[in-house]
Amino acid sequence: MTDSSIDVDLIVAGGGPVGLAAAIEARLAGLSVAVVEPRAGEIDKACGEGLMPGAVPMLARLGVDPVGVPLRGVSYRSGARRADHRFTGGEGRGVRRTTLHAAMTARAAELDVEHLADKVTLVTQDATGVNAAGLRARWLFGCDGLHSRVRREIGVELPPGRRRRRYGVRQHFRVAPWTDLIEVHWSRRVEAYITPVAEDTVGVALLGRPGLDFAAELAAIPALAFLGEAPPASTLRGAGALRQRTSRRHVGRVLLVGDASGYVDAITGEGLRLGFAQAEAAVDAIVHGRPGGYEDAWNTISRDFRVLTTGLVGLASSPLRPAIVPIAGALPGVFGGVVDRLAR
Ligand SMILES: Cc1cc2nc3c(=O)[nH]c(=O)nc-3n(C[C@H](O)[C@H](O)[C@H](O)COP(=O)(O)OP(=O)(O)OC[C@H]3O[C@@H](n4cnc5c(N)ncnc54)[C@H](O)[C@@H]3O)c2cc1C
Repeated sequence: MTDSSIDVDLIVAGGGPVGLAAAIEARLAGLSVAVVEPRAGEIDKACGEGLMPGAVPMLARLGVDPVGVPLRGVSYRSGARRADHRFTGGEGRGVRRTTLHAAMTARAAELDVEHLADKVTLVTQDATGVNAAGLRARWLFGCDGLHSRVRREIGVELPPGRRRRRYGVRQHFRVAPWTDLIEVHWSRRVEAYITPVAEDTVGVALLGRPGLDFAAELAAIPALAFLGEAPPASTLRGAGALRQRTSRRHVGRVLLVGDASGYVDAITGEGLRLGFAQAEAAVDAIVHGRPGGYEDAWNTISRDFRVLTTGLVGLASSPLRPAIVPIAGALPGVFGGVVDRLAR
């Protein structure tokens, strides 16, 4: 059945990294695409900014090669204890979100992705199309992040559950990176992620309870207390609640991709790689006219992340928290196996 009122094959609600990956992917597959994003310029977001090794070739395949700093592994630290693992499957990259956004926006523009400066509020659909932001399309991807409006519009948002809510806060400091590993410092209350993102800039992301005091928590970690004297290179930016649940990822002509499709926690430094893989699967599903197949693909893509991240958050919130770094150090094979599995 043809529908002459269709403006575009695909509306992407949200022009963050996953929305842009989906838009680029769809253009490469020959679809016409409009990205609806209310924020202008190079979009920033609270993020650890570590592209895991698997994410770098995914971006390269899309024609995106953002400037950044090589990341060669993960180091868990707690006082004098540490557990280091160097990635066995290639390098990751520390990339400022604004740099990533600029590189992805330029590639999308090169491929004639349309951009609409608007917010998606209402989403309606029928047998042949979906309507949002004044456009009618064959398909719509909800790539509108943790607090997805599209997810609510299609009625698949689940209540948060009874687990403690966790948030993230990040800031950058003007210091030369002292490591090529993603350092994760475990204190009593927070996990502090150190990611080098430029020759003179290091990002610090803290994960913990709502209302965490960034400066006080940083000062309480002896190995990082010196950052209190370093010149800040950005203002504080927060995100959360991190845990977002969905009953399904596809309703009719609408598919949820990236954080909008459900998120567990940033404790494993994941999100971008997963979102890029979901974007590829979502485009593949609509190109083949089998949107329902995306649900299976989504489950396969995100299984390791959901299982391992849920397990680690559970441990981190339990009385076993102080034992995490010592155990990781005592079981290097297990620690390395988990890191490599999530980094793929
Ligand atoms: C503290 C912290 C540390 C993290 N560290 C890492 C890490 O090191 N590595 C990693 O891979 N991941 C990390 N993550 C996860 C990563 O940040 C996310 O998974 C990633 O940003 C998801 O991208 P996205 O495009 O789905 O969503 P977002 O980046 O949130 O983008 C969503 C976009 O949608 C737009 N939008 C919102 N509402 C609407 C609407 N109604 N209509 C239209 N547009 C809308 C927003 O303006 C935004 O631009 C971290 C997360 C946190 C919070």
